[in-house]
Amino acid sequence: MLADRKTLTDYLIEERRRYPQATGDFNALVLDVAIACKIIARRLAHGALQQVLGATSMQNAQGETQQKLDVVANDIFLSANEGGGHLAGLASEEMDAPAAIPERYPKGRYLLLFDPLDGSSNLDVNVSVGSIFSVLRALRPGEAAAPDDFLQPGTQQVCAGYAIYGPSTMFVLTIGRGTHAFTLDPDLGEFILTHPDIKVPAAAGEFAINVSNHRFWEPAVRRYVDECLAGKSGPRGRDFNMRWIASLVAEAHRILMRGGVFLYPRDSKDPTKAGRLRLLYEANPVAFLMEQAGGRASTGRERISDIVPSELHQRIPFIFGASEEVDLIERYHLDPAVSEYDAPLFGARGLFRAAT
Ligand code: MN
Ligand code: MN
Repeated sequence: MLADRKTLTDYLIEERRRYPQATGDFNALVLDVAIACKIIARRLAHGALQQVLGATSMQNAQGETQQKLDVVANDIFLSANEGGGHLAGLASEEMDAPAAIPERYPKGRYLLLFDPLDGSSNLDVNVSVGSIFSVLRALRPGEAAAPDDFLQPGTQQVCAGYAIYGPSTMFVLTIGRGTHAFTLDPDLGEFILTHPDIKVPAAAGEFAINVSNHRFWEPAVRRYVDECLAGKSGPRGRDFNMRWIASLVAEAHRILMRGGVFLYPRDSKDPTKAGRLRLLYEANPVAFLMEQAGGRASTGRERISDIVPSELHQRIPFIFGASEEVDLIERYHLDPAVSEYDAPLFGARGLFRAAT
């Protein structure tokens, strides 16, 4: 161990000592994921020089246009993780069906789920993106996993985390004992523990939501946001800031670093979609990180981690961050009186109309 610096490997070794019967498989798996993230970080750093920016002619399982780097990052995740012998299968936001472990490799005891490049539509404008991952136990260790094996609630996660590719590359991890952030030392190529035991303050002074969807929101969300916007003179009695990066990893990271609340609620814009974000690749891992940091994660009606997934690419409404704010937003969703709330921001009784 470097005198006063703990690497990701040091951290994992120390944690493993708590479990004398552990085989080391799990640590090797996390380190394989970290290597995938380091490789992706290097690819991204070359940006336009490498001619991998921009869109492909393909769409992913959700019908979204794939960026060239979505495909590159997915391949990196597969090749860094499929041969380690730790996994019984891999599922990705970018693949219709889970990838099998190639015949030549042994099957292991875990399942890896990932969003290889979250926020990839931000690449062309050089805004932070990330990779998100979640680890579950294989239902039949040593055998190839079936697609349904991945449909486990978030409470079953063994570990979860993300890498954020920003001004620095960071790796944020929970193995169920707090949420910890490691910064990539670009000279050593090692993740160094820089933010142990992150805590999200219970109250928030910042909210993040795509306000252009205001007219599609449910009354509970309109009420919550309207009250934040009303500031000091409104029912909340204090002023709020608003942020919107449109990159889930960047939003989650900001909230872990300095607090706040994020909402991508259910809306009526596209009634075929219950929400925008994916339960298995995005919401569950971020929810695990938030809860381990003292925050909360909810659909507005129920805890994210309790949801039993019905399909691999399931989308859900996603609200997370400061516990008191998530509590309040849930109360508004569950309170029948709030369904009467109808004060459109720009409408007759809205905030921006002078009192008469
Ligand atoms: Mn994503
Ligand atoms: Mn993605």
